Amino acid sequence: AGRIFPINPGAEEILGLKCYPTVLDVPEQIDAAIFTIPARFVSEVIEQCGKKGIKGLIIISSGFSEVGNRELEEHIVKLAHQYGMRILGPNIVGVLSNSDKFNGSFAPFLPLAGSGSLVSQSGALLIGIDASTYLRKVGFDKLISIGNMSDVSFADTIEWLNQDKNTTCISLYIEGLKNGRKVIETARKATKPIIGLKAGISVHGAAAAASHTGSLAGAAKIYKAAFKQAGIIEAENLDNLFNRTLALSLQPPMKGNNILIITNGGGVGVLATDAAEKYGVPIKFAPDDIQTELKNFMPPFGSTKNPIDLTGMAGTDWYYGSVKYAMAHPWVNGLVVLYCETAITNPQEIAGGILQAFEDSNIKNKPIIISYVGGERSEKAMHWLVEKGIPSYGAPDLAINAMAALHEYANIKESVNDIGKDFDNVDKEKALNIISKARANGRNALTEIESKQVFEAYGLPTTHFELTTTEDAAVKVANEFGFPVVMKIVSSDILHKSDAGGVRVNIQNEEDVHKAFKEIIENAKAYKPNANISGIAVQEMAPYGTEVILGSVNDGTFGQTIMFGLGGIFVEVLKDVIFRVAPFSKKQARQMISEIQGAPILAGVRGKKPCDLETLADTICKYAYMITDLKDEISESDANPVIVYEEGKGLKIVDARVILKKK
Ligand code: ADP
Ligand code: MG
Repeated sequence: AGRIFPINPGAEEILGLKCYPTVLDVPEQIDAAIFTIPARFVSEVIEQCGKKGIKGLIIISSGFSEVGNRELEEHIVKLAHQYGMRILGPNIVGVLSNSDKFNGSFAPFLPLAGSGSLVSQSGALLIGIDASTYLRKVGFDKLISIGNMSDVSFADTIEWLNQDKNTTCISLYIEGLKNGRKVIETARKATKPIIGLKAGISVHGAAAAASHTGSLAGAAKIYKAAFKQAGIIEAENLDNLFNRTLALSLQPPMKGNNILIITNGGGVGVLATDAAEKYGVPIKFAPDDIQTELKNFMPPFGSTKNPIDLTGMAGTDWYYGSVKYAMAHPWVNGLVVLYCETAITNPQEIAGGILQAFEDSNIKNKPIIISYVGGERSEKAMHWLVEKGIPSYGAPDLAINAMAALHEYANIKESVNDIGKDFDNVDKEKALNIISKARANGRNALTEIESKQVFEAYGLPTTHFELTTTEDAAVKVANEFGFPVVMKIVSSDILHKSDAGGVRVNIQNEEDVHKAFKEIIENAKAYKPNANISGIAVQEMAPYGTEVILGSVNDGTFGQTIMFGLGGIFVEVLKDVIFRVAPFSKKQARQMISEIQGAPILAGVRGKKPCDLETLADTICKYAYMITDLKDEISESDANPVIVYEEGKGLKIVDARVILKKK
């Protein structure tokens, strides 16, 4: 909408506009500069922009960090900051804004107008999305290509769009974040819905790791956790990003758990009901007063239970009457209206009736979503509804999925501040001492004994043990602990002790101690002839219980991240594990416990008493605190297994492993 000044030393005019050799030759003030020049000229022109007093630089030019030219990228950012300028890019398609009538990009035209704004890390995808907004009838106010994120980052765009008066929903297409923590913190504070699509979650390329946690952590699960902790709603794929953006940008959050479905056909009603269960907002029977009242808008063979089936006889009046009543009823937290195009009805008239009912109900704090299944007339009627601010979809499950996003949005902010508190009675110095001794020995892996000493320093309950170097010493310790005992190899060269035949459990008498001692040493030598063996740890034998695993990874994007799951030998096959970025509160720990597939096993099944979930949640939290406190030291760790006992009886960490950060 403003004025454009083409800059090029080789032209007099471009597309009828007077052209200037440099920005310094332009007689007027300039707000933003768009760079489409080769990378090697960018620095010089940034200097000129700085002198000219320009504020924003949109650098479309490529040839920076994306091709390994990091130095040049760092240089231009430094240069821009010297003049107080910010850089979007480089290596971007540009920025488009409907409300500013601004196309600072090489996309051909502005997107269909809408009230969501999209930030995309992929440029080509942004151009594709731009054109597809007209086909999908999902509009955007702004499309922002973020490229190399040399300066302006996802966190910056979230913060900015959150205060932009023309944006009601912030949509993100993410391939990788530079500073995950900052994105979480910024998103937490946002007051508008944020929806994120994370691409690149396949296991392919996941680095081989030394610990269980390392091999179980994939980008997918960690991003899922981080989104949740940040209050970012997830999109499953591109279609889903569009569909959910439409609802989140047009409708209020769904507060409460009651969806009412009004339909003129059983089939779409059943599909919607199935979807509601799948997306976590199962349908309930409508209360009596709703059932009684809605009988007025259907023939005797209609159904009032929910879905409310007005039957194929339903015309505009019945849709109008039932929608108006349902919108206003306090039991209804979200209304989904379904329609199958019939021979006797006109889709546009039905749409008119629904919109009229919605407006006459005068309810603004409760969402309504429509789904039509039909032909071209239905398609047109739905577009018309979208233009009036009512999200409409071509299939009932899409409508429910969108409603589920509004439901999620109403609840997602609840837990974003569950970051926990510091723990007392922690002996950090002791932990650091053990760590520095291992480092002094030139080791990055702590032995089980050292790992347990670190855990103990943070008040985590581990089995008692003593390192022994002779059979007689082992017998003595076993007698002190009392039988049965466990004996394990202690070697910094053997990480997975069972694999080396280095673990004997349930040793009942002195004779067996002698036997186990010999066998374990023999096995270890056979497994790794040059292994440096410190001796054998004799341990108290923890009674039988439910085995779980706790672990941590230092994720490249989000930093220290905690894993929890059912333990045992199948953990790496079943991958039934949950992550959270550390630290977090006990409430979050409880959620982690309930989110694994095997949760019922911990809660008690088939006559088995429930596990001590209170202590387990506490331990997970403490673990997260320890890992955060030692974030400069610990790269990966796990406690596998942790044996959990019945309610009130606590738990024991029977194996521990810590891998140090390389220094
Ligand atoms: P690994 O290095 O092979 O993981 P662990 O120390 O975890 O060795 O021992 C293997 C298995 O032996 C554990 O999964 C657990 O079931 C059992 N176990 C180990 N230590 C104890 C103990 N102190 N009390 C009871 N069972 C134990
Ligand atoms: Mg183990």
